[in-house]
Amino acid sequence: MTAEYDKLSMIADFFNTQDRRMRYEGDPGLEHLSEPRRLYEWFLQHQLIAASDTVSEEDLQLTRALRDELRRTIVNNEHDGPVHGDKLVELMSLFPFGIVFGEHSDQLIPLVENGRKGLANLLAQVFDLRRANLWHRIRVCTAEDCQWVFVDRSRPGTGRWCSMKACGNRAKNKTFREKRKSETGM
Ligand SMILES: [Zn+2]
Repeated sequence: MTAEYDKLSMIADFFNTQDRRMRYEGDPGLEHLSEPRRLYEWFLQHQLIAASDTVSEEDLQLTRALRDELRRTIVNNEHDGPVHGDKLVELMSLFPFGIVFGEHSDQLIPLVENGRKGLANLLAQVFDLRRANLWHRIRVCTAEDCQWVFVDRSRPGTGRWCSMKACGNRAKNKTFREKRKSETGM
């Protein structure tokens, strides 16, 4: 399972390249993929491209679009609205794959180059995780001012907060305060 959890961590990290955590009122969050160079470094760090590959502005725009659409497929995502099926199909049509039959497992091999290959390799891992019924372990924190994406390693795999200590307690206290308000009419 370790390999699968490594893949899950990588995917969570991908979503968090758009860090939506609000540190102050009106904080727009942080876009880590601000330029092609950043995406190149991210792909390289996760071994999705080779050092000699290049990443273009177009790859960057495609990555962000794909990140937005994939984020909608996170099963407990209440922040981004429903999955745009057509849009996903349209995006996926840009990624042709070959299949290599191996002795122990089969593999999807991207038929595209450079930055797009990085994305295709990422998508192949998404495909593996979904097929292994592990996609639900990618969760997004339900706190509106957090929305951090995390991997739920608990047995039930139905976590709602990135951290029970921070976001979980904050939500509980809020419910408690609201309950008390309605009870005392204050
Ligand atoms: Zn959180």
